[in-house]
Amino acid sequence: MRSTMQNVPLLTSRLIDYAGTVYPGSEVVTWGADGPRRSSFTDVAKDCRRLANALRALGVDGDQRVGSFMWNNEEHLELYLGVPAAGAVLHTINIRLFPQQMVYVVNHAEDKVVFVDNSLAQPFAALLEHTPLVEHVVVNGPVPDEVREALAGGGRRSVHDYRTLLDAQPDTFAWPELDENDGTLMCYTSGTTGNPKGVVYSHRSNLLHATFCAGSNALGLSQSDRALAIVPLFHANAWGLAYAGMMSGASLIMPDRFLQPEPLVRMIEGERVTCGGAVPSVMTGVLDYLDAHPEADVSSFDRVIIGGSACPPALLDAFHERHGVSVLHGWGMTETSPLGTVAIAPVGAEGEEYWNYRHSQGRLALHVETRLVGADGAEQPWDGVAVGEIQVRGPWVTGSYYRDDSEEEKFEDGWLRTGDIGSLTPDGYLTISDRVKDVIKSGGEWISSIDLENALMGHPAVHEASVVGVPDTKWGERPLAIVVPVEGESPGVEELRDYLQARVARWQVPERWAFVAEVPKTSVGKFDKKALRSQYAEGTLPVVEATKTPS
Ligand code: ADP
Repeated sequence: MRSTMQNVPLLTSRLIDYAGTVYPGSEVVTWGADGPRRSSFTDVAKDCRRLANALRALGVDGDQRVGSFMWNNEEHLELYLGVPAAGAVLHTINIRLFPQQMVYVVNHAEDKVVFVDNSLAQPFAALLEHTPLVEHVVVNGPVPDEVREALAGGGRRSVHDYRTLLDAQPDTFAWPELDENDGTLMCYTSGTTGNPKGVVYSHRSNLLHATFCAGSNALGLSQSDRALAIVPLFHANAWGLAYAGMMSGASLIMPDRFLQPEPLVRMIEGERVTCGGAVPSVMTGVLDYLDAHPEADVSSFDRVIIGGSACPPALLDAFHERHGVSVLHGWGMTETSPLGTVAIAPVGAEGEEYWNYRHSQGRLALHVETRLVGADGAEQPWDGVAVGEIQVRGPWVTGSYYRDDSEEEKFEDGWLRTGDIGSLTPDGYLTISDRVKDVIKSGGEWISSIDLENALMGHPAVHEASVVGVPDTKWGERPLAIVVPVEGESPGVEELRDYLQARVARWQVPERWAFVAEVPKTSVGKFDKKALRSQYAEGTLPVVEATKTPS
């Protein structure tokens, strides 16, 4: 029997019209050097319609790609909503990629129009020399004449001002009736080898995913929330925060380029932020700032989703105990929209059991069907012990990469091979022990770099710690611990080894250590293990060898 339900497509345009109508009291706040700028959801919706008209005027009349090279601000959010609603695809360019990677992604996506923040226009102009398909550049904010000229490239591109472009357009637009499976946004991920890989989301995947993100098994958003979107709009769909906020009427606080701990804390205080999302390295900085500034009033800040890489339990505990902030640990990847799990503990869990759930990567979402595959290819039980590769499928999981079949091995019978190794409890809580490419293979045994990092970051004198596998003549590979001490502290190798030995198996304790001022980070703020391994190979890390076997 067919259902009697109407077959109305899930479309981004509906989100714009709905949020602009029913949440006139919700706002988008953009941080700036001269204080915050505010726009109501109603005004944002009007701008989205002006933007759609402007896109038509620029010749974007189908699924052409529109690039954005921007911070998190109101205008970027308008592109996030308005470009897909108009039927085009927004390619959010990661502003921290290497120049040659940026050129690659702009050319690969075939961006026709690119929107760029004025603060980023100069470096972007240099890239445009190598992106012949870009016809229009729209700048958000004023730029000096010489930058404008560089963007125009001797007349090869026309340059527009965002506000002027929109102001010339009516705020009404008849949204096209699109297929809900059409592309909306595209994000490139670093992939395992070679060039970045493009993932294209759909109206359907975005709206389903945002519903989960907004729900009480994730961020639990409502109109009374004020969400701080620290995670960039170019990092894996901003974890669904933008659409989830619009959907639930939660005001969105956009930090623009002010991503340092002090302005972030100012935003939380001044805007009475209730929740947010960020990677562990950013939240480590915020924690340090709060610890050093007990006068900061973050009493409104109720919860923050931390993911992108493993959230150290010590970070989660410190926010809870010292600042009353609940950290919701989440796991996911660009390929999974990204949310796959969020660590909300089950009802009834108490004490240590409760915290084990909270420290884990979290409970699987309904639409992220999961299997655990062992090294021999056999499915492993969900018993909290057996480990294997996490493989997933579902309506917000990608089934391929955009115009790139170089990674066919990433997909197996319709399942995405995540490249993450972990275990699952009988009630569907995931613990990630490592990425396949980061796990340390020592004498036939596997050492989890995440376990060692988490343990080390629990030491009071350790600010950050990253662990990578390095070649070893006897064991094949052994762990190397790279430690950033807390300012003013200088923990010794033997002290840290003794500390670790009480927490992990003795044979896992590293012999090689390096104390550094900073761990190199990737373009989205994760420990850059590839860079650490090559620094070790080149001999540029100040490595200290342990002198005695742990007692
Ligand atoms: P990139 O591969 O360029 O870093 P992603 O941001 O998509 O791009 O990375 C996804 C990967 O990040 C996951 O496959 C996983 O290895 C890691 N990751 C994300 N969240 C967590 C988490 N909570 N714990 C451990 N690893 C995580």
